[in-house]
Amino acid sequence: GARDLSLPREINDPAVIDRAHMFHPGTHLADFASGELPSQIITGGEGIYVTDRDGHRMIDGFAGLWCVNVGYGRTEIADAVHAQMAKLSYYHAYNGNSNEPAIELAGRIAGMIGLDMNHVFYGLSGSDSNETNAKIVWYYHRILGKPEKRKLIARQRSYHGSGVLSGSLTGQPGFHGLFGLPLPEVIHVSAPHHWLDAHPGETERAYSRRLAQELEATILSEGPETVAAFFAEPVVGSGGILPSPEGYWEEVQQVLRRYDVLLVADEVVTGFGRTGAAFGSHLYGIRPDLMALAKGLSSGYLPLSASVVSDRVWQVLEEGTRQNGPFIHGWTYSAHPVCAAAALANLDIIDREGLIENARDTGAYFQQCLREAFGNHPMVGEVRGVGLLAAVDFVEQRSPRQFFDPARRIGAQVTETARRKGLIVRSMPRIDGIGFAPPLTLTRAEADQIVDIARSATQEIAATL
Ligand code: PLP
Repeated sequence: GARDLSLPREINDPAVIDRAHMFHPGTHLADFASGELPSQIITGGEGIYVTDRDGHRMIDGFAGLWCVNVGYGRTEIADAVHAQMAKLSYYHAYNGNSNEPAIELAGRIAGMIGLDMNHVFYGLSGSDSNETNAKIVWYYHRILGKPEKRKLIARQRSYHGSGVLSGSLTGQPGFHGLFGLPLPEVIHVSAPHHWLDAHPGETERAYSRRLAQELEATILSEGPETVAAFFAEPVVGSGGILPSPEGYWEEVQQVLRRYDVLLVADEVVTGFGRTGAAFGSHLYGIRPDLMALAKGLSSGYLPLSASVVSDRVWQVLEEGTRQNGPFIHGWTYSAHPVCAAAALANLDIIDREGLIENARDTGAYFQQCLREAFGNHPMVGEVRGVGLLAAVDFVEQRSPRQFFDPARRIGAQVTETARRKGLIVRSMPRIDGIGFAPPLTLTRAEADQIVDIARSATQEIAATL
């Protein structure tokens, strides 16, 4: 029956109103309504810490949703936002209209990326940047007289967003089945995870070649004249934190070039220093035709995303408008001046504090500490990562490899235990594991603390088995 919301004692309790009125993303709605899933209200953030309404202070080892790259409580971003909002709170960017922060930011982004990628289209989320990228891909092939090039290849386990198309590109079944997705244009191939999926004795190079051959076979069986683009994250993020194996991008890019298939690099997680390089494309020698950016662009202080267009694609877009008039695509909030001001202040911090270099150096230290703490642990199958992105996967038995029954929720139990001990990590799907993506301001002492708490939480769960 309907819950009585009029009880005077509870009416002002945010936890009650939360259960009654908030529709949370990615949440078990029935368990949340019943109280089985606890309400977790975060009220403050400072540096790498967040605090909940009971005053429980935790290290945020996942930087929100791997987006708060500069850490919490940066008053200079708040000041920049305040000043911009007072000066010009909003104006649109259609038909050549513009504003100063968005202009300056576009130049900054292009300068940081290089790779002959010089034009920036703004949105508000990683999902919408991939919707934009797909439409650019379709438009591009049409202008070049190939309207039948429409199919989009993405990878299983990948995450590209939750929209109708971006959710179709996402390669995780939970985003599809009950929504009647993916759209028929989208095809999925394997994502690389050498430890999990390589044949016994297969080198990383040989494994990479095999996956490139799978991609090529897929393009050939679909018909290369129908395949428009390949979408991929330089490091698979929410699908398990999977750095690319040796040779993967070299092999894959050769296949894409052979069949005139555009490459869209989804750098929503890997952009702006997360991997220890400015962009994952720099780390792996990727030359994308289009790039998706969000998260670290503004460190989540305000929503902002970007689709970055290579010169090769840009020339075709310009030609398209010569033939057809304006490029009819955009959002009310494209190039929002206040979000752009937040992003500029964020990039200033990243520059001034050398956070990309810190992600590389403290990241290397963090990876080494994780390997020392977990590398020989009987419950750990693999420790992997790059920069300040890392994962630890749990196994019931190392050799021969045997996974836990997923119903035992080992990764989720370690995650819950770590949270009680003052550390937020994220449990990873498919294999039981935990993921780390702390703010890029991390110090060595903070890295030690994260590893200590994660190890003690793991020990606590191991002791119950
Ligand atoms: N692409 C990647 C690689 C992501 O990790 C995400 C979000 O986690 C997205 C796209 C979607 O971004 P948003 O949630 O801002 O729509």
